[in-house]
Amino acid sequence: MPKLSVRDLNVAGKRVLVRVDFNVPVEAVGEGTRITDDTRIRESLPTIQLLRDHGGRVVLLAHFGRPKGAPNPKYSLKPVADHLRHLIPGPVEFSPEVIGPKAEAATQVLPNLGVLLVENVRFYKEEEANDPGFARSLSRLGDVYVNDAFGAAHRAHASTAGVAGFMPKAAMGLLMERELKYLKDELANPDRPFLVILGGAKVSDKIGVIKALIEKADAFLIGGAMAYTFYRALGIPTGASRVEEDKVQLAEELLVQAKQKKVKFLLPVDNVETNEFKPGAESRNTPILTRDRGITEGWQALDIGQETINQYSKEIAQAKTVLWNGPVGVFEIPDFARGTRQLAAALAQSDAKTIVGGGDLVTAVKQFGFAKKMTFISTGGGASLELLEGKELPGVAALTDV
Ligand code: AMP
Repeated sequence: MPKLSVRDLNVAGKRVLVRVDFNVPVEAVGEGTRITDDTRIRESLPTIQLLRDHGGRVVLLAHFGRPKGAPNPKYSLKPVADHLRHLIPGPVEFSPEVIGPKAEAATQVLPNLGVLLVENVRFYKEEEANDPGFARSLSRLGDVYVNDAFGAAHRAHASTAGVAGFMPKAAMGLLMERELKYLKDELANPDRPFLVILGGAKVSDKIGVIKALIEKADAFLIGGAMAYTFYRALGIPTGASRVEEDKVQLAEELLVQAKQKKVKFLLPVDNVETNEFKPGAESRNTPILTRDRGITEGWQALDIGQETINQYSKEIAQAKTVLWNGPVGVFEIPDFARGTRQLAAALAQSDAKTIVGGGDLVTAVKQFGFAKKMTFISTGGGASLELLEGKELPGVAALTDV
């Protein structure tokens, strides 16, 4: 079902209750905290700005960290309100109360164009329990509801899902709308060839995605530690590489399925292996593998090799849609970053629609300077994976149908 968009709301003079994802990384500085990366805050600015441009009064709901259902100054959103003042022209207020008469009064006195950030919703255990009474109390803070917290949309919590049921209208914000457009609508009928690159630490995280996309993709390019669980399934030596023993059988089944469906399922043909997992350790490119010559005993593979990079880059050059989740090597260590960097470069050069997601990969792509060259960079971790698995996100399901 298509959902109502914030662009279709009449918000003039209204209090718009907006759920945002302000769960930013911070570091302790003396008594207080400093935000080390404000990307998530900046990503909600277009929705906040749109609402203010149309005369709305903006009340922001967010969670921060894991305070476990009780107030805790360590997890206060006050520093985020202070930070917001540098990003938004006009008054930015902060309500230390999440619900109740004082919080409601703060929303009532909010001037036109004003923005009010409400304290961490997770100070109440009712938030994660999606308690209807708590959701109703939250609903009193606004006249209409907008959910722009894509990163939390896979959670059925009071502020992400329950509250929508108590509002006359509940719409998706601009960020939410873009995520759904690229990770759902565009992939329903992708331009072909449609390529899926998967990497990262664990095959178990990506099984659901492989199973769902095997119905749609023309090819999978596998990298990262998960590749070696597939090696094990094929009887290729894995040395000391990371293998999920309890997923070997499943890896075997996925390989069979791909074959039956005539979907290309490419594994690295060579790797960068090391005898020690640390910066500066000895490392080398393995020869092209065969069934009995894989990773050297006692060594572990931490990146895809040069021949694999060449092969995968050729596939990317011919693709019309590329979806990439998870780095193909330990990009945090320069010796093992080449695969991820080169594939990112191949994506940047291609004229395919390129959709990149997964927290660590997004960090890598930004670090290597290719972020602006991608068609879309997803902000959600768990939420993106669940969407790609074809699951309905509770935070989206709760919004008004159109
Ligand atoms: P994920 O959160 O599943 O996307 O995994 C990202 C992490 O996987 C990164 O921190 C990488 O360092 C790690 N990673 C990628 N390739 C490998 C590998 N071959 N062996 C161990 N870890 C890896």
